[in-house]
Amino acid sequence: MYWDKETETMGRDELEALQVQLLQKSIRQAGSSPYYGRIFKEEGITPESITTLDDLGRIPFMTKDLLRDNYPYGLVAVSKEQLVRLHSSSGTTGRPTVIFHTGNDIAEWAGLIARCMYMTGVRASDVFQNMMGYGLFTGGIGFHYGAERLGALVIPAGPGNTQRQIMLMQEFESTVLHIIPSYALHFIKSLQELHIDPRKDLHIRMAFLGAEPHSEEIRQRIEDALGVTAYNSYGLSEMNGPGVAFECTEKDGMHVWEDSYILEVVNPDTLKPVKDGEEGELVFTTLKREGMPILRYRSKDLACVYTEPCACGRTHRKITRIKGRTDDMLIVKGVNMYPVQIEKVLMSIPEVGSNYQIVLDRKDFNDHMTVKVEISGEVFTGEMQQLDHLKKTIIERLRSEILITPKVDLVEPDSLPKSEGKAVRVIDNRHQWG
Ligand SMILES: [Zn+2]
Repeated sequence: MYWDKETETMGRDELEALQVQLLQKSIRQAGSSPYYGRIFKEEGITPESITTLDDLGRIPFMTKDLLRDNYPYGLVAVSKEQLVRLHSSSGTTGRPTVIFHTGNDIAEWAGLIARCMYMTGVRASDVFQNMMGYGLFTGGIGFHYGAERLGALVIPAGPGNTQRQIMLMQEFESTVLHIIPSYALHFIKSLQELHIDPRKDLHIRMAFLGAEPHSEEIRQRIEDALGVTAYNSYGLSEMNGPGVAFECTEKDGMHVWEDSYILEVVNPDTLKPVKDGEEGELVFTTLKREGMPILRYRSKDLACVYTEPCACGRTHRKITRIKGRTDDMLIVKGVNMYPVQIEKVLMSIPEVGSNYQIVLDRKDFNDHMTVKVEISGEVFTGEMQQLDHLKKTIIERLRSEILITPKVDLVEPDSLPKSEGKAVRVIDNRHQWG
């Protein structure tokens, strides 16, 4: 029922023709909003004047700043009576950005998530424990509606309260979890402390990991510890939230639903399209949204598009896992790097525990990077020699990945701040006075 074979395996030409047709509709819809009404007039854009995907280049990019400038209703393309819900991004500074949805938008979104879940093998017989935050954030409620649409039994657990999560899993025999990767690591540790063996004592077989870019190594740790298959999910609130791209059972890249979104990959500096398969910033256009169509939104997320077709038979293009956000990029001693590169190294070392923190300071006009690494209990209480050796290994591997030599502090298990939401991995003290 959610395997829409015809659409998901459509030939490329046919899919692109469908995109142009939907884009014209989306432009007509967007033109009803104050912002796009003005822009289209200035640029001489009409739905009929867009006849190929290349014509998309005539439409100016949308950015988070532009969304803020037009806050709250500048991009709304329907009357207030037609709006049924809003979501807001989790911005910590300045005005938030808000996305408005009609009833059809919510239904479309739920359908996309149901399609993602079905693709990985979730069925109506599954019990879905949703350990994501509900509320203005899109992650929890997005999956909630998608799983209900699919017919699964949904437990709206929300994040945190580990004991209660375990109780729910045991009582109702949850089979599928939706969880933030950093919370999953914390959760795994709690299971170990309580001597609960997820393979024997729980029924979970699958986990969806979302809301935070994470490395392949983190996925493997979660899979090994819980005895599940874990799938990577990608979305952004400006494009509804989750449901934009999702892994199929090949677990190698995430299919972007190209009958709902147009994907472009651009060089973040020149804003020109990158060559096929090269890394760039993902740019998305909504094709079906009524309440607030958004064209050419710069996500700030960096990834590559796969050039090879997927073995699953779906023709919608795949993206790699997110390498980082242009916002998250750290420049330390003049070298560019992303926190996820550091995570990848740490999590590939078995003695490393589940938590780490990157601290940046500036002393005597020089950048200093300290990586605080929790290590497993036995190693921590073990011999000094072993600790020294471990520290050296971590430093060496980090140096070959990020090209600078950080200071590494090995710390006790549980000594770094825990998170039940998105983890704060980087503490940058370089811009403070004193
Ligand atoms: Zn596939």
